[in-house]
Formats: sequence, structure tokens, C-alpha cells
Amino acid sequence: MKENIINWEDVQQKATEYLCQYLQINTVNPPGKEIEGAHFLKGILSQAGISSTIVESEPGRGNLIARLEGGGEKPPLLLLSHIDVVPAEAEKWIYPPFSGKVVDEEIWGRGALDCKSLGIANAMVLILLKKSVIQLNRDIIMAATADEEKGGTFGAGWLCRNQPGFQDIEAVINEGGGVGIAGKNKNYYFCQVAEKGICWMRIRFTGSPGHGSLPRDDNCILSLGSCLSRIGAFRPEIQLPPVTMQFLKGFSDDDVLAPLFDQIACNPQSADNALKHIKDKGLKQLLGTMLRTTFVPTVVKGGEKTNVIPSECCCEVDCRILPGKTPEKTKKELEALLSDIPRCSIEIIDSSTASESSQSHELYHLFRQSLLRHDPQAKMIPYISSGATDSRFFRNQGAPAFGFAPLLVDGDLSQYQDLIHGHNERISKKNLLFGIKVLYDVVREYSS
Ligand SMILES: [Zn+2]
Repeated sequence: MKENIINWEDVQQKATEYLCQYLQINTVNPPGKEIEGAHFLKGILSQAGISSTIVESEPGRGNLIARLEGGGEKPPLLLLSHIDVVPAEAEKWIYPPFSGKVVDEEIWGRGALDCKSLGIANAMVLILLKKSVIQLNRDIIMAATADEEKGGTFGAGWLCRNQPGFQDIEAVINEGGGVGIAGKNKNYYFCQVAEKGICWMRIRFTGSPGHGSLPRDDNCILSLGSCLSRIGAFRPEIQLPPVTMQFLKGFSDDDVLAPLFDQIACNPQSADNALKHIKDKGLKQLLGTMLRTTFVPTVVKGGEKTNVIPSECCCEVDCRILPGKTPEKTKKELEALLSDIPRCSIEIIDSSTASESSQSHELYHLFRQSLLRHDPQAKMIPYISSGATDSRFFRNQGAPAFGFAPLLVDGDLSQYQDLIHGHNERISKKNLLFGIKVLYDVVREYSS
């Protein structure tokens, strides 16, 4: 049988309409209330004859699961996205964050990029496959989950532990990558194949308490201050794990970046100097995180009253680690850095090692092929993200997971990064359609 011809203009119109409506549903986490978003997705899928279920991990924390049944020759593929979004400071936006407004061919709203557009793209892929005559050799599962923005405990993490069928998924396509930037000759798309691990630490300082009118050398607040400036100035050693090396080599055909990236690969000690010459602030920041462990102080607690020197205070450090490093090793590194600061002790409050998926996986090749089909200038490069996504739950149970929600940024990478969790988040209709087309081809080819 011949495949149906898809009217992509209709697809774009429908997807735009759906995304606008999805963005109007406030799923800010906390509290999340993802159930409302889940019901919306269930509605659009059911109009296309696709049944789905909503499972609640806690009241209101809805997770949507839809399944297109295939022949069962191969294990299922999971298309993953999350329903919850981070809060938005409405007064700082040009158009209200829950308006789902379309202005100049762009769709505005909190979640337009992270990650409701991917939720709609996944739904459209399912709808298009359902309408087609393609025989699937595996089930395609779509999951739109709760709680990603607060760690995934009530979303993907919960599904992996409790939902039948989630333990034998073969591979996952998720958020976290797929973004492209335009170079001189090529458009470079970053596929997320790995995520840094975390090592969150709390540092406690003690000293003798007393009256604020009587200065003391062992004032714990002063120790905390020294610690913060020490961490701020700390530049841990450069690491070049294989994924970072591949990222650097990926730009070999870019006249401007190739010499800089070569310099970093051949002489890691010169990395900080080379980074200074990267014009795109977003790219500079991204590469910076791929080259070393980062230590970022985020919480400071201590003191109650202006005239009382406290006996104790603490700070917390968000530390992100590359493959090959363990949380224990990272703690030792911090202890060495602070060794001469008296009366301080470090404890790990949460940790995980980096997670990674193999680039020899068939999906990875299909991403590349499909990108090229829809953008002849495309070049795909693997990268490791500094932040964590729900992909780690699946990697930890042995399923390869890739961050791949393709879109091409108009300008610097920083223009895209500033919108994620920032003000005025939006996606162009063109990018929404591009993502759907690329994903559709990938899923169709992987499953037939
Ligand atoms: Zn996200």
C-alpha cells in the first residue's frame, strides 16, 4: 500500500492550535496540577482515535500514557515529554505567560520550548502514524509526565518504578537536545547523549557565639565568606571525556571555531583562554560546562539577629560532575580546596554519577539522517548537558535515551538559552513544524 501524502500545512496549523491551548493550561510546578494538561492531551489523541490513560502518582499529579500498538516484533519506543513548567514572572513578559498567543509567527507562553512543544510534537507524530497505513513493528508509547522540573519523583521516576511496561522500553526520545545553531557553512545540531551527574553538598561552619559588638576571629560567618570567595575563584582541572572531544571535533569544518576547539583538544591547559574568544555567549557557556566539574554556591543560611554572632552557619553547593568522576572524589576536591578554612565540614546531600547513551544506537543514526533530509546544511554533534532530565531514569535502567527535540535557533545559542526558564519563552511555528517532521521520520523508520 502507498503511504498517505501528508499535508504539512494542515499539520502546522493543527499543531499551532494545540500548542496554544496547551500553553494556556497553567501547570507551574509547584504545585504542578499536571492532570489538567494530561486531560488536554488525552482529548486531542482521542479525537484521532488513540486511547490513552492518565495515572496519578499523587492527587493532581497526572501522567499521560498513550500507546500505538505495533506488531510486537521489537520492544517499545518511548516518546517522552513533561507537562509541568517552571514559574513565570508575568509582569516581566511582553505577552502574558499563559496566553498561548501567536505573534509574528511565534507561539508565546511558559513551556513553549520547555517542553510543551515537544509534547505536542509527540502527539502529532502519534496522530500521523495512526492515520497512515504504516505497519509498526513495535509499540510506540507516548508519555507526558509530571514533576520533571522538581526532580521527576512524581513523574518519570514514579513511572519507572510503578507503571507496568515501563521497565522493558527499548529506547527513549526526550527533551534536552536537538537544538541547532547556524554556522557559516553548516547548521550544527546538538544531540544530548549524556548528562552530567550531581553532587550537592552542604558545608557547615562553626565558631564561638557571642555579642555582635565584640569581634571574634572564629566568627563562623567569616569562615563562610572565605569559603564562598574561594569557590567563586576555583577553576577545577579541565577534563576531556570522549563526548566532549567529539563535540570539539564536530566543528572541524567551521573556519572560526575549528582553530579554537583544536587548541582546547590538543592543549587542555589553554581552554580558558580559547573560551574567551568564542563570540556566542551561549556556546561559550555550554562548552565551559562540558570541560570541567562546576561548583556553584546556591544557598546560604546563618544568623538570626544583627547583634548576635551565631555558633553555626552553612551554605549549599550545586556541583555537576562529568563522566569518570564520582561524588566522593568531588567531595575530596572541595575538602582540599577548603582545607585551611577552620571548623568547616562537608557532607553530600544528594548525588548521582553522569549518565550516557551509546552513539552507535540505531536511533542516533536516524536522527542524523532525518535532520539532513529536512535541513541539507545539518550536521549533528553529540553533547553532554549540564542539567539533568528525566532521561536519567531510563538510562539507569539500561534503556538508551537521547535528548532530541530538533529546532534551529535564529541567532546565537544564548538567545535560545535565555528563554528557557526565562522571560518571553516562545517557539516559531516554523520550528514547531520542523521538529514534528524530523521526529516523524525518525519514529517511522525506527518502527517499520
Ligand atoms: Zn524540560
